[in-house]
Amino acid sequence: MIKANTSTYLDYNATVPTLGTVKKSMIAFMDFGPVNASSVHFYGRKGKNVIEHAKANIAELINTKSENVIFTSSATESINLLFSNFNNIIVSSIEHLAVLSASKSDQIISVNKNGVIDIENLEVLLKKNSKNKKNILVSVMWVNNETGVVQPIEDVVKLSKKYGCLVHCDAAQALGKVKIDLKKVDLDFLTLSGHKIGAPAGIGALVNNKNFNLNPQILGGGQEKGMRAGTENIIGILGFGEAAAILKKMPEYSYEKVNFLRDYLSNKIKLVSPETVFFGNNVERVNNTLLIASPNIPGDLALMKLDIDAFSVSSGSACSSGKISQSHVLKAMGYETLASNSIRLSFPPNDIILASDNLITTEELDRLAQCWSNI
Ligand code: PLP
Repeated sequence: MIKANTSTYLDYNATVPTLGTVKKSMIAFMDFGPVNASSVHFYGRKGKNVIEHAKANIAELINTKSENVIFTSSATESINLLFSNFNNIIVSSIEHLAVLSASKSDQIISVNKNGVIDIENLEVLLKKNSKNKKNILVSVMWVNNETGVVQPIEDVVKLSKKYGCLVHCDAAQALGKVKIDLKKVDLDFLTLSGHKIGAPAGIGALVNNKNFNLNPQILGGGQEKGMRAGTENIIGILGFGEAAAILKKMPEYSYEKVNFLRDYLSNKIKLVSPETVFFGNNVERVNNTLLIASPNIPGDLALMKLDIDAFSVSSGSACSSGKISQSHVLKAMGYETLASNSIRLSFPPNDIILASDNLITTEELDRLAQCWSNI
C-alpha cells in the first residue's frame, strides 16, 4: 500500500505502482546503453534478447508460446489492433470502454444483477449470427474493472466455439489476480496491460494464441513481425517481462492478505454505514476489489471528501477526463439510480505486490470506514 506523503492509495485497479525490482532492472538497462532492437550490432542484439526474454516470461505465466505475444503500447491498443480485423463483434455490456468503443458493436450480451454475463443471452446472439457466414468475434472480459466480478470465461469459450466463433478476452484486470492458463481455456486472443501488474504504463500485449493471420494497424519498419511497427519500447518491455517473472514465481494462492484487508474494510463499512450498497459480493470476485455506493451521496462528492481525508480511491464511473459520469457497468447491472454514486476501493492485486509496498494497517481502514460513514 502506498502512502505517498499524505494519501493512502487504494486505486490499484487504475494502476499498480512500478515494483521496486522492476524499476531497478529498468534503470540498470537504461545505464547499460543505447538500445534499438532492430540494430544488428552488440546493443541491438542485447535488445532482441530482452524482448525474447520478456515474451518467454509472459508466455510462461499464461501458458502459451512466446511467439504468440505481440507487444503494443497498452491493452487499449491491443484491443484496437485486434478489432480492426473484424466487422462483427459480440461484446458484453460491462466491457471496458476500450472494447465498447473499438468494437462499435450493437450486439451486446446482458448481465445479471451481480454483474455476471448472461450465457443464455450470448447463445441467443450466437444463434442470430449463425446464419451470417462472416467471421464473428466474441469479446468478454475475464475480470470486470469496477466490480472485480470474474466472468464465466470457460463457458463463453465453449459456447462460442460451438457456433464457430473466435473468442477474445480482455484480461487487463485478470493478470495477477486469477490464474490464466491458455492450455485450459481455449481462447483465440487475449489482451494484457503491463501497468496493472507492476510494470510501467505504456506497454501492453496482444496474445494471438492460435497464431491467426492478422492485419496490423500501425505500419512502418516491420517490428513485432510486422504486427506493430515502431521502435520497441524496450524499457517498458523489460519491465513487463520482469513483473511477469515475479508473478510466475507466485505460489498458487497468494491472495489471503489482500482478501483479509478487503473483507476487513467491507465488514467495517457494513457496521458503521449499514445503508451502504455492495456490488458483486454474492458471486466470484477477485480478492482486491470493493465497489460500494451510498444511496444518498453522489460518487464525485464522496471521492472529493475521501481525497480531503487522504484516501486516493476511484469512482467506479470515472472517465478519462477525471470527470464522473454514470457507470455503464452499474447501469447494465440494473442499478440505474446508484450508477452515479459508486466508489471503487482497490487493494494490490495479490500478496506479492502487497508485500512490495508499505502494508496498510487495519487502523487506517478503520479510519477510512469512519470517513465514509461521516460522508
Ligand atoms: N481493460 C480493462 C478491463 C481495464 O481495466 C483497462 C484499464 O483500466 C484497460 C482495458 C485498458 O488498459 P490500458 O491502460 O493498458 O490501455
